[in-house]
Amino acid sequence: MALIVQKFGGTSVGTVERIENVAERIKKFRDRGDDIVVVVSAMSGETNRLIEMAYQIDEKPNAREYDVLLSTGEQVTIALLSMALNRRGVPARSYTGTQVHILTDSAHNKARILDINELNMRTDLDQGRVVVVAGFQGVDEKGNITTLGRGGSDTTAVALAAALKADECQIYTDVDGVYTTDPRVVPEARRLEKITFEEMLEMASLGSKVLQIRAVEFAGKYNVPLRVLSSFDEPNFDSDGVNGTLITYEEDKMEQALISGIAFNRDEAKLTILGVPDKPGVAHGILGPVGDANIEIDMIIQNIGADGTTDFTFTVHRNDFVAAKAVLNRVSNELGAREVIGDEKIVKISLVGVGMRSHAGIASKMFKALAEEGININMISTSEIKISVVVDEKYLELGVRTLHSAFGLAEKQS
Ligand code: ASP
Ligand code: MG
Repeated sequence: MALIVQKFGGTSVGTVERIENVAERIKKFRDRGDDIVVVVSAMSGETNRLIEMAYQIDEKPNAREYDVLLSTGEQVTIALLSMALNRRGVPARSYTGTQVHILTDSAHNKARILDINELNMRTDLDQGRVVVVAGFQGVDEKGNITTLGRGGSDTTAVALAAALKADECQIYTDVDGVYTTDPRVVPEARRLEKITFEEMLEMASLGSKVLQIRAVEFAGKYNVPLRVLSSFDEPNFDSDGVNGTLITYEEDKMEQALISGIAFNRDEAKLTILGVPDKPGVAHGILGPVGDANIEIDMIIQNIGADGTTDFTFTVHRNDFVAAKAVLNRVSNELGAREVIGDEKIVKISLVGVGMRSHAGIASKMFKALAEEGININMISTSEIKISVVVDEKYLELGVRTLHSAFGLAEKQS
């Protein structure tokens, strides 16, 4: 018997029939004796539909009203799911974010959770009820409805699990876990049984879109065991509970792989400013204006200076390329640089693994594997548990496949 928070995403509750399936699944856990708190998203496509309507009325919709509107999607699914549970003889009660009292700050549209009152939920659980909570929404101090940003139901689920000190937070989605890399690029990619919070954060921020990044951060901070699994697979009560991928803290038993996965990002572009004077304040002189233009910077490289000048390269999101280039052209004149060049057709490929911490030679193995395929590396950056390279876009698939096999990721490591 355990206390489990289960979150079902938009596709899992996309039709009445699927909502009935979710109710069946919850019933199986209840029959086993588990206490269940459920978090649901809006039916798939619903949040987008609401957003479109808002923009038909106003291209800058009022932020408060926008949240009132968006929060309705989840209100539909909590009610329908609770009806489906009650009809099956599983007592259930639905709650909006306001009713549970998920207190957030007042940053409409990207609100942060400040506090959760778990008393209502405890009372229901004690009386044998399933608690069904609307994801993605909360309420501020003044009683205004807020929303947490797209994909925010994941964060709601993790936050509830943390507040209730649940045994596990299960995120049901349309994939059955976290893979060593995207199976569409490498068909042999393998589902991981476990991955650490840190690794998952790297994988998520590098473009594996299984979980909202904030949810992973939250889970890591409060040490909430988080499991990603498919809502279309049967629950597997024989193994220690269920299938999927468990995201957890590092422990000895963890699959002792050097590398857990390969993430990639197709959305990058790079910019170089050549021949800038090599003197204090130049990096700030370049990146300050880019930041002022609200453009986020990813990798940064500055060469060692020669003849009193240096070259400076960084990457941005591809959507920001044109704007970033315009800023650089301006800055280049002011700083007396020689030239600004850029390339939009680049990608970033990263090896991720906590095992890197204790092992030398991973980088050279990576670079060798890429060299053997004739793949030129444009930029390199490293952190404790990650090595990223920027290569030409045309090498993405080859690069990922090459590294996946060089590090033997298709085979289960023991
Ligand atoms: N319905 C919201 C969205 O589409 C929240 C969620 O699904 O997590 O972003
Ligand atoms: Mg989602």
